[in-house]
Amino acid sequence: MDNRIPEDFIEEVRRQADIVQIISEHVVLKRTGKNYQGLCPFHSEKTPSFNVNPERQMFYCFGCHTGGNVFTFLMKINNLAFIDAVKVVAEKTGIAFPEKELSPGQKKKELKRKRFLEIHKLAANYFHEVLLNSPEGRPGREYLERRGIGVKIINDFALGYAPAQWDGLLKYMALRNVSPEELVEFGLAVSKTNND
Ligand SMILES: [Zn+2]
Repeated sequence: MDNRIPEDFIEEVRRQADIVQIISEHVVLKRTGKNYQGLCPFHSEKTPSFNVNPERQMFYCFGCHTGGNVFTFLMKINNLAFIDAVKVVAEKTGIAFPEKELSPGQKKKELKRKRFLEIHKLAANYFHEVLLNSPEGRPGREYLERRGIGVKIINDFALGYAPAQWDGLLKYMALRNVSPEELVEFGLAVSKTNND
């Protein structure tokens, strides 16, 4: 597995992180001038020698000499690997983790895959709605009722019904910005010109 994270991303996370806020989740900090102080979580003590410097985004303990930045702190306190500490801070700070760089071909493929899933999900919703709520779905509902299949199973398995009217799906999809060409491409419709 490739665990490398771009250097500038790490720097961006470190820069934007609020070390005081993140350490405060583990240590009660009190403001003293420019810094914050608290009881060190890494050694046992009764008077605070654990310091956090928000300006430099660093912490340091004068008792046990443990110190570092926000990543070091999380690695030590939660026993995390560096990459996981970066992930945690990125999440807390609201910075999206960079996705691995894809080639243009891979990007295109990935977009197509997402669109495929999206459109098939819409289609499943359409047939499910027809079955549950439309007059055209009545034969389907009656059939399932005869088979003793209740609404819970219908919902759990997202059962659907394809009505006799051929353009229902097309209209439903058109309202959701899916073109007929896309339906054909993704195997949900057949072009009429091919059949005549
Ligand atoms: Zn200490």
